[in-house]
Amino acid sequence: MTKDMNKYEYIWLDGYQPEPSIRSKIKATSDDNPPEWGFDGSSTQQAEGSNSDCILLPVQKYDGPLGPDLVMCQVHTGEHEVHPSNTRSACEGLVSDEWWFGFEQEYFFTDTKGNPLGWQDGTPRPQGDYYCGVGAGNVSGREISEAHLDVCLEAGIELTGTNAEVALGQWEYQCLGKGIKAGDDLWVSRFLLHRVAEEFGVCVNLHPKPKSGDWNGSGMHTNFSNEEMRTNGSEELMNSLCEKLGAVHQEGINEYGSDNDKRLTGLHETQKITEFSYAVSDRGASIRIPIYTLEHDWNGYLEDRRPASNADPYRIIAHIVGTLS
Ligand code: MG
Repeated sequence: MTKDMNKYEYIWLDGYQPEPSIRSKIKATSDDNPPEWGFDGSSTQQAEGSNSDCILLPVQKYDGPLGPDLVMCQVHTGEHEVHPSNTRSACEGLVSDEWWFGFEQEYFFTDTKGNPLGWQDGTPRPQGDYYCGVGAGNVSGREISEAHLDVCLEAGIELTGTNAEVALGQWEYQCLGKGIKAGDDLWVSRFLLHRVAEEFGVCVNLHPKPKSGDWNGSGMHTNFSNEEMRTNGSEELMNSLCEKLGAVHQEGINEYGSDNDKRLTGLHETQKITEFSYAVSDRGASIRIPIYTLEHDWNGYLEDRRPASNADPYRIIAHIVGTLS
C-alpha cells in the first residue's frame, strides 16, 4: 500500500423522507485529519442534477473497527449553507454536554427478502419465550448482535448492553452519550449495525411495526437527564418536566418517527399515540419515572417511551431539550 495514506469512511444522512437513510464512502488521503469532501446530491435527494454538488463537513471521528476510521458528517449545500435535510445543525445549537441520553434501539434482523430471521418457515409460535431467550429455537441473529456490540465498543461508542427482544428476530441495544455526540453515536451505531449485518447477508429493519397482529413493535425509548435532574432532583421537578412534555405531546409525536401510530396502540407495553401519561415504573405510560430515580431521592433520569425505532435522534434531542430548557 502507498505509504502515509489514511483511509476515512465518511458517513452522512441523505434527503429521503420521512426518515433519512445512511450513506457512506471512503476517502484515501495523506491528510492526518479528514478534510471537507463533496458528493452527488442528485443521487441522494439532496440536490437537482443541474446543481448537484453537496458538501460533507466532518463533525465526529471514530476509530475504525472495520478498517477505515469513521467520520460522521453533516451536509451543507454547494453554497456552504446548512442543507434542509441537516437536522444535526439545529440540534447542536440547543444541546450541551450536561444533557445525557440513553437510547434503547430496537430493530429486527431480516433476510434479504424482508422476512425476520427465524420466520423463514412461516409464522413462529406466539411471543413468550423470545425475550432474553436462550437456545436455537428461541433466538435468531445472536452472532450478529454480539459482533455489533464489539465493533461499537472498539469505535468508542458506549453501548451499555444488548438483548434479544419480545419477538423472534427482534433485538435491542442501549447507546449512551452526552450532548450532540449522543446523536452522532446513535447514527454511527446504526451504520455499524447495517455494515456488520451485511457481512452475514442479513438486513436491518428499523420500522416501528414490521409485523402486524400480536407482535411487539420496535421503539427507541429515550432516557434523558440534565445536571439538575441528576443532582438536585425532586418529585416536583420530575412531574413538572413530564407536564411540560405533555403540553407539547403532538409536537413530540411529529418528531418521534413515522408510522408510530401502528406501534403506539395502548397494547404491547405502549400508551396510545393520542394520549399522554406519566407514572412511576409504568411501561404503559408515555413517560416512565424509573424506580431508580425514586430510590435515589428523586435524583436520576426520565424515560420517554414514545420515540419509534426509526426516529432521528437529532430530532428527539432537539424536542426534549428545546421543550425543557
Ligand atoms: Mg426493549
